[in-house]
Amino acid sequence: MTDVDVAEEMIVTLRDWVESVVIPHASEFELPDKYPTDMAHQMADFGLFGATIPSEYGGLDLDNMTYARVIEELSRGWMSLAGIINSHLICAKLISKFGSEEQKQRWLPSMATGELRGCFSLSEPDSGSDAGALRCQAKRDGDEWIINGTKMWVTNGEKAGVVALLARVPEGDPEPAGGISCFIVEKTPGKKSGGITVSRKIDKLGYRGLETVEMSYSDHRLSHDQLLGGNEGIGNGLRWALTALEQGRINVAARGVGVAQAAYDAALAYAKERETFGRPISQHQAIAFKLAEMATKLEAARLLTYEAARKADAGERVDLAAGMAKLFASETASELALDAMRIHGGNGFSTEYPVERYYRDAPLMIIGEGTSEIQKLVISRALLAED
Ligand SMILES: Cc1cc2nc3c(=O)[nH]c(=O)nc-3n(C[C@H](O)[C@H](O)[C@H](O)COP(=O)(O)OP(=O)(O)OC[C@H]3O[C@@H](n4cnc5c(N)ncnc54)[C@H](O)[C@@H]3O)c2cc1C
Repeated sequence: MTDVDVAEEMIVTLRDWVESVVIPHASEFELPDKYPTDMAHQMADFGLFGATIPSEYGGLDLDNMTYARVIEELSRGWMSLAGIINSHLICAKLISKFGSEEQKQRWLPSMATGELRGCFSLSEPDSGSDAGALRCQAKRDGDEWIINGTKMWVTNGEKAGVVALLARVPEGDPEPAGGISCFIVEKTPGKKSGGITVSRKIDKLGYRGLETVEMSYSDHRLSHDQLLGGNEGIGNGLRWALTALEQGRINVAARGVGVAQAAYDAALAYAKERETFGRPISQHQAIAFKLAEMATKLEAARLLTYEAARKADAGERVDLAAGMAKLFASETASELALDAMRIHGGNGFSTEYPVERYYRDAPLMIIGEGTSEIQKLVISRALLAED
């Protein structure tokens, strides 16, 4: 079988699982905000915790296109499932791209099986879009680092055994000059580990079922070998994290496509079935035109996302393409979720139908991994630089 056949087979297997297991049961976990342990185990069996980890470290080494399609399928069923692997794989990407060989051997094989779970911790209470303003501090003390600070919005933070933590090293301490650096912090899964405390679990509008937490570090000590990339990593952490996030944007776009597809499918089925004034509502032109607009936007979002993935696979620059895909697909997911709710009338407002979940999940794509405003900054900078 060719690589294309293997990828196609994987998508088909995943689609069947999403249809038979995820779609019928997602609300049982989502509404009470319960972690879907069995679904996560099944995802581990599919190899998804190693989806983009290089094969020499036990991963599937999927290309960007296949991974985007995996994320799209998962999100069509329930977007939170994509969240379970996404920040884990951003952490793994940082290690595989910028870590030393010893660091790759140390963490990647157990991350690929899902036995060791990762998360990504850049945001703080006072810095999100303006990531360079982060305050969390890492001070060198001989062969160790002492971490102090508070991190916000750490998705998978409690279950994680490794955290890709962005912290500021004071200037000139040690040589070379300091700056934001990335540490792969080892911890015990749970609420407390050394000087690390999961200070609270954030209650969320959507993206429920997996935890997003605030984490504080109080004189937490790390060994020097947890500094990503060794001494070369001092001052390079933010640049490296932004590189990892650039590809991450293709995956957020793919989540948008998945949620938009689910909203469209639900709207189409309901419009054919629900009757008013003696005919199915799909026969009223206002509803038929709404469906036409939804299908067109969905197709455009998918094409932009696949084009960004294709460019990334071809080794081309993707700042512009990934920014456009993320901007359009995330806004489209939100618009289509609201359209699907309108088409469902009162039933759209009920938890007995899944469209209310799409409506609550979709806005996260507009915020996470760079808001829509930040995408417009990225896009306009790339356009102006081309002149
Ligand atoms: C559910 C959830 C999960 C998350 N998971 C993670 C995670 O795992 N790890 C992690 O590190 N972070 C995570 N985040 C954080 C997320 O990346 C940030 O919320 C996001 O980057 C926005 O930052 P902020 O919330 O501080 O908003 P701010 O940066 O304060 O922005 C507020 C508003 O101002 C706008 N704005 C800001 N700067 C500009 C500008 N220059 N020009 C125009 N408009 C501007 C923004 O677009 C936004 O509308 C998560 C967030 C959520 C909601």
